[in-house]
Amino acid sequence: MKVWMASARHYDIESFVRALQAGSDHVFVYSRERLTPETAVLAEGCDAVCSFVNDDLCDATLEQLAQFGVRVIALRCAGADSVDLEAARRLGLRVVNVPSYAPESVAEFALALLLCLGRRLHRSYNRVRENNFDLSGLVGLQLHGKTAGVVGTGRIGAATALLLRAFGMKVMASDPAQQDPRLSDVGIQYVGLEELLANSQVVSLHCPLLPATHHLINAERLAMMPRGALLVNTSRGGLLDTKAVIAALKAGQLGGLALDVYEQEGGLFFADHSDEVIGDDTFERLLTFPNVLVSAHQAFLTDAALEAIATTTLSNLDQVAAGLPCGNDLLR
Ligand code: NAD
Repeated sequence: MKVWMASARHYDIESFVRALQAGSDHVFVYSRERLTPETAVLAEGCDAVCSFVNDDLCDATLEQLAQFGVRVIALRCAGADSVDLEAARRLGLRVVNVPSYAPESVAEFALALLLCLGRRLHRSYNRVRENNFDLSGLVGLQLHGKTAGVVGTGRIGAATALLLRAFGMKVMASDPAQQDPRLSDVGIQYVGLEELLANSQVVSLHCPLLPATHHLINAERLAMMPRGALLVNTSRGGLLDTKAVIAALKAGQLGGLALDVYEQEGGLFFADHSDEVIGDDTFERLLTFPNVLVSAHQAFLTDAALEAIATTTLSNLDQVAAGLPCGNDLLR
C-alpha cells in the first residue's frame, strides 16, 4: 500500500524506516503536516493515511480522503477520539489502531510527573541553574503511606496502580467495566469514583475520552477531593474541565496539577511555537501556577513504544491489504 503519514516527526520516520527494513512492501510518504480538511489533498493517490492523536479526522477530512482514493485510516495511537467513526463507516473506510504500545512507558511517565510535581523538582531545577540554593517552597509530598486513586484500570492504569503500590501507597481504583485481579492480589481496592476522589491525596487519570468521560473531573468532583490533593492527567485533556481546575488551583483546593495532555492541545502540541504569542488564555493561565507542570503529550515517547507502534501499524496494514480481518479494526 502507498501510505501518507501525517504529523510525521524524525522519531516516527526513524522507527517506521527500521520496521519497514525488516521486510515490508508498503511505501510511506512522510509529511510534517497535520491532517485537517485543508491538508487532506496531500494524501491524493495514497491507499492509506497514517495519523496521530492531534490530526483532525472529522467528517470533512474523511470525505476528502475518500474522494482522493484513500481506503484505510491507520491510527498510530490507541485513542480514536480524533476520528469521526460514523463518517468513516458511512464512507466505507477501514479504521485500524494500535490499541496497546508499551503501556508501562505511559505509566512510568505518570509516575515521573507525580514525583516531579510532588517533590517540586521543576522548581529546584530552575533555581539551581540560577545559583539559587534556597529550599523555601520545596517541601515535598512523601508518597509512601499516602493514598493514590487510579481512574481507569486498563493497560496503562493497571501498570500505574502497580507502580504506585510499589511506592508503598494505599491504592484505590475505579473502573466501571473491569476489575483486574493483578491489582486485587496486591491489595488494591476497587471503589466508586466518588469514594476514590474523597480519599486520595494523589489522583491519576487513565480512562479514555468518551462522551461519558468528558469533563469527568469538574468543579463538583474537585470539591470532593482532600484539600491540597495532586492530580495527574496523562490520558486525554478533555477529561478535565480546565476552567474548574484553574478555579480549584486558585482556591488552594487542588494542591498541584501535572498534565501531559490538554483539552485544546490540537494545533499547539507537537510543534515549536516559541516565536509566537499563544492565543489560548486558559492554557497560558495554567502555566503561571508554580504548582502546575505541563509536558507536551510525550508520555508515549520511548524506544519501546515507538517500535511497537511501527510494527503494529505495519501488521495492521498487511492484514487490510490482504483483505483479512484485522483484530485492531475499530469498525468491526
Ligand atoms: P484501555 O482501553 O486499556 O483502558 C481504559 C480503561 O478505562 C478501561 O478499563 C475502561 O473500562 C476504563 N474506563 C472507561 N470509562 C471509565 C470511567 N468513567 N471511569 C473509570 N474508568 C473508565 O486504555 P489504555 O491503553 O490504558 O489507555 C488509557 C488512555 O491513555 C487512552 O484512552 C489514551 O487516551 C491515553 N494515552 C495517552 C498517551 C500519552 O502519550 N499521553 C499514550 C497512550 C494512551
